[in-house]
Amino acid sequence: MLTKVRQDLQNYFGYSSFRPGQEKVISNVLEKKRNSACIMPTGGGKSICYQIPALQLPGTTLVISPLISLMKDQVDALNVAGIPASYINSSLSYQEMRIRLSETKQGRYKLLYIAPERLQSPEFLQEIKQLEIPLIAVDEAHCISQWGHDFRPSYMNIKEMLNALPGDPVILALTATATPQVSDDICRLLHIDASQVVSTGFARSNLSFQLVKGEDKMRYLENYIKTNKDESGIIYTATRKEADRISQALRIKGIRAGRYHAGMNDEERLREQEDFLQDNITIMVATSAFGMGIDKSNIRYVIHYQMPKDMESYYQEAGRAGRDGADSECILLYSAQDVQIQRFLIEQSTTNESRQIQQLEKLRQMMDYCHTEGCLQAFILRYFGEQSPEDCGQCSSCTDERELTDVTREAQMVMSCLIRMGARFGKTFISQVLTGSRNKKVVEAGFDKLTTYGMMKDKSLQEVNEFIEFLTSELYLGATTGQYPTLYVTEKGKEVLLGKSGVERKARMQTSQLVEDDELFNHLRAVRKSIAEEENVPPFVVFSDVTLRDMCAKLPDNPQDFLNVKGVGEQKRQRYGERFIEEIQTFCAENPDRNRKSEAVMTSKPSKKRTPTDEPSHLETYKMFQEGMSIKELAEAREITEETAGSHLLRCISEGHSIDWERIITYQIEAQIKEAVEKVGKEKLKPLKENVSEEISYFIIKLTLEKWRQESGQIV
Ligand code: ADP
Repeated sequence: MLTKVRQDLQNYFGYSSFRPGQEKVISNVLEKKRNSACIMPTGGGKSICYQIPALQLPGTTLVISPLISLMKDQVDALNVAGIPASYINSSLSYQEMRIRLSETKQGRYKLLYIAPERLQSPEFLQEIKQLEIPLIAVDEAHCISQWGHDFRPSYMNIKEMLNALPGDPVILALTATATPQVSDDICRLLHIDASQVVSTGFARSNLSFQLVKGEDKMRYLENYIKTNKDESGIIYTATRKEADRISQALRIKGIRAGRYHAGMNDEERLREQEDFLQDNITIMVATSAFGMGIDKSNIRYVIHYQMPKDMESYYQEAGRAGRDGADSECILLYSAQDVQIQRFLIEQSTTNESRQIQQLEKLRQMMDYCHTEGCLQAFILRYFGEQSPEDCGQCSSCTDERELTDVTREAQMVMSCLIRMGARFGKTFISQVLTGSRNKKVVEAGFDKLTTYGMMKDKSLQEVNEFIEFLTSELYLGATTGQYPTLYVTEKGKEVLLGKSGVERKARMQTSQLVEDDELFNHLRAVRKSIAEEENVPPFVVFSDVTLRDMCAKLPDNPQDFLNVKGVGEQKRQRYGERFIEEIQTFCAENPDRNRKSEAVMTSKPSKKRTPTDEPSHLETYKMFQEGMSIKELAEAREITEETAGSHLLRCISEGHSIDWERIITYQIEAQIKEAVEKVGKEKLKPLKENVSEEISYFIIKLTLEKWRQESGQIV
């Protein structure tokens, strides 16, 4: 049986070996037919643990998942890989639900995803009793436990369903977050023997954790985004107001970012989420309301602009980076003020005193994380109950080699000024006095007469502000609670003031480039995006970033070699192989160096054309178009397809270049597309294409939609 399992892994998913734990879970389910629990970190590869057994077992595997918005992507991904699957949840009409159920009864699907709420309906329970169900996968199984941070009462219905179902389906519980208490609950409620729990630990070796303290957060963020402008990332804030402020500030700086929080209406939220999933925008600024329902695999960084309320939230949110296994960063921008915000939010959220105490204790542990000198990953793992984890060697603590500067004198200046001002003020006012501001408030309070007035006038207000932030984050200064927190000197600070100890400060944190620039990767990304639009699925459902990177390394130029790329199974090879191979061939022809480098490992066909140019390929196309060549002419001259030439132009437009639309989109074309849009809408490209004449290609449709978008004044 295991040979067959390995074949499925290769044929459907394109992987040649299992990740830790996968094979054991699969064999538990398939060979031993034992109820099991699978505890793996996010991105560990839990889905395959029930998807492969579903392929082998007769009937339909039921997957219970609380994340409705995730279901469609999961089902799309399975269908794209050639596995028949469907879902039933509240997004469907009654009629649609009936159709899917009857198709399931006819044995059309190997997997059926359902939301736990479905199980409350006796009618639904009656229906599924008539299905052949060999396996029930309970995803996000921690939701069944009251000890979990995400308890869902509807998960309790699973027990009843199990009692009601005929046959004896195997149960597989899957989760990324299970403390021993939660794990016990899962086992007890789902009849799983403790010996059948497969746990691979919490470590995510592809994530590097970074702690950034005492820096101007906005400047850091801007630098970081600019350095990694093509990569997807989430920026989490603690409040809706802050999410609004940051997305607005980024927009002013010319960085287009999505926004997501509970204060927006459903439609707006959905639109922004879709744009992010479809890679139309790379950045999402959001509160913790965002993320539960998405499994976009190519998120390269998660930045917490403000500290979250506890380690559970932090690890869950940060863990949304790098689900595809590629290296990714999780950065926490710490400022002492954020502790006050979280405290305030806890006080607002509950009046139950013991609950408040519990939450404040969790907040304290979160602060400990922000002040630890040790390995950040190890801190997290210890928090989740792992015994003596090893240092990761890649977090900001493990790799910090920044130079230290003695800033004891400056620290004393700040502290003595603060004390002279009566310890009644916040950061900015103190900075104003230290930098010698003539601000009315400063003069009226008589602070221009203090001996410390203007003591740091060689520095900007911003620099002193940042320095005070640093002293607070290192606990030399403390902040009072309340609506207007004021600063005071802590015991640790007093030692410095008395000259008993000194203060050292590290140089500014450098932002790093996450992924090396690779022009071919960008080309393949564009091909992926085109396919995703045509099929109306998110790009990561077509191929993950890891798969595209592997294509860049292996440069496959024939179907057989394409199959050797990580993540390419037989179905996907048939569906997409040709387009990617063509793009790779064209690129290699234009960049003979790249080709030669890989010749040792690949058998390359002779190049179609050799016109080495320093200009990135899409800009070259644009230049030729601007010089007056038609798409057809320039595609011929460059020996690329018209579709590729079109995607180059679209890319240039998205980068801010303008074109004369009329040279491509005639009045007749536009009229035809308009008519088609009225008929089938503009969400899916495929039906649009089917409703216009054949010579109107995908890229012309995309270009026209883009033109309308710009004309309607939307931000591009
Ligand atoms: P989880 O549900 O545990 O968060 P997923 O099932 O979504 O994780 O898998 C995360 C990523 O790892 C996906 O891109 C998946 O295709 C990939 N993956 C799963 N199993 C393997 C494997 N054996 N080899 C390589 N990649 C894998």
